[in-house]
Amino acid sequence: MLGILGGGLSGLVLASRLPDSEVLEQAERPGGLCRSLTFDGFTFDPHGSHVLFSRNPRAIEFYEGLLRDNVCRRRRNTKVFYKGRYVKYPFENGLSDLPIEDNARCTLGYIQAYLARHTGTAPKPSNFREWLYHRFGPGITEAYLLPYNEKIWKTPAERMGVEWVEGRVPDPPLEDVVKSAIGVPTEGYTHQLHFMYPREQGVEALVRALLPAVPRVRTGFRVTSVRRRGDGWVVGDGNEEREYDSIVSTVPIPELLRAMPEAPADVRVAAAALQHRALVTVMLGIARPNLNDFSWVYFPTPADGRFNRISYPSNFSDRVAPEGTSSALAEITCDIGDPTWSLGDEALVEHVVERADALQLFRRQDVIAARVARTRYAYVVFDLAHRRNLDRVNEYAERVGIRLLGRFGQFDYINTDQVILRALSLAAEAGSGA
Ligand SMILES: Cc1cc2nc3c(=O)[nH]c(=O)nc-3n(C[C@H](O)[C@H](O)[C@H](O)COP(=O)(O)OP(=O)(O)OC[C@H]3O[C@@H](n4cnc5c(N)ncnc54)[C@H](O)[C@@H]3O)c2cc1C
Repeated sequence: MLGILGGGLSGLVLASRLPDSEVLEQAERPGGLCRSLTFDGFTFDPHGSHVLFSRNPRAIEFYEGLLRDNVCRRRRNTKVFYKGRYVKYPFENGLSDLPIEDNARCTLGYIQAYLARHTGTAPKPSNFREWLYHRFGPGITEAYLLPYNEKIWKTPAERMGVEWVEGRVPDPPLEDVVKSAIGVPTEGYTHQLHFMYPREQGVEALVRALLPAVPRVRTGFRVTSVRRRGDGWVVGDGNEEREYDSIVSTVPIPELLRAMPEAPADVRVAAAALQHRALVTVMLGIARPNLNDFSWVYFPTPADGRFNRISYPSNFSDRVAPEGTSSALAEITCDIGDPTWSLGDEALVEHVVERADALQLFRRQDVIAARVARTRYAYVVFDLAHRRNLDRVNEYAERVGIRLLGRFGQFDYINTDQVILRALSLAAEAGSGA
């Protein structure tokens, strides 16, 4: 039998294709980051606002197969909050929404960076900060990309690498940027322009639809030891041990290596050094119908609030908020135990409500429901040592014969579409006896 450590989406998709498998999940309910929460009639994704999109038709088919008619289809209407204005997202497709001086600086900077790149006169960037200037020029970088990225990653951009940016940070054609500067509508990052969202149950609808195909899930089983026995593996939680012929781990790499004290010290050090950010979300029910028509709004400036993004789930589906109301979800990245993580729930709600009221996003007196959630593993940080540390762990996992899968199982910045595709491909490999 195959033991699958972790019952998030990756573990569940894999198990759903392999009848002779068992999932071990620490929480009382499987789903990991794709669990949703309903209170006071509002449904939220407490581990971060999710929408479903992909460049890959196979992933889209998979979503559609799971959701069937439990789906809403939306066109993105996303903004960047800049100097009190809503600028169309991606920022470089919204330049005409900027004050005219800022528009000119962003446009000229973009053209100069573009020319430098295409004439080969720009030096090759060696870190994320240099890459932003190289790709976007100083105007767009300093107005939006640098403050936003430093706010979400909580890491100086010069201490981040660039391997993760291709496909993640939009790469706009010069023509589109010039058109956007003079007010001709253009769209960027187009594979996300149209997205799906479950009509009911939040993103957890994916998990619920998948579960009937999953042969065995043990919940409340927190893996604390993983070791070899003969040709197989023994996995324990301190009370009980389960034996498997082979294992796939989707639990965060640092947690896996903590459960393997027999691993070489340098591998354990590399695993512990992998950087990630935690997340606090503040979920709010608002007693106003059609509060706005935004999908979500980015907040690059620290002065606007601690949150880097506010999403409006009631604009994703007509069934996730009671009639006549709207909902908002603010996301604040942080580190476990830092001042944001440790702030009480009431103070976190107060911070978001006070800032929203001051910025005229919504009114304090309209807030009728509130909850806070904390997520320990939310974002992989691609610091300069990331590749080296990850390579060390991967070499070890390959040598001892553990397959790694998933967002923190592989310590990669992947969304549900990649999670699904990788799980399906691993299942095909395992099913064919490879
Ligand atoms: C803020 C945010 C926004 C996102 N937005 C989107 C989006 O819009 N669209 C999209 O497609 N994707 C989005 N994602 C990504 C998506 O959530 C993930 O790619 C996906 O859910 C990862 O699934 P996973 O199974 O790899 O990991 P996880 O969901 O993290 O699953 C790992 C599981 O392992 C369990 N576990 C951990 N340690 C142990 C242990 N010791 N023993 C047993 N079990 C353990 C955990 O409880 C968890 O259930 C977002 C993620 C975040 C954080």
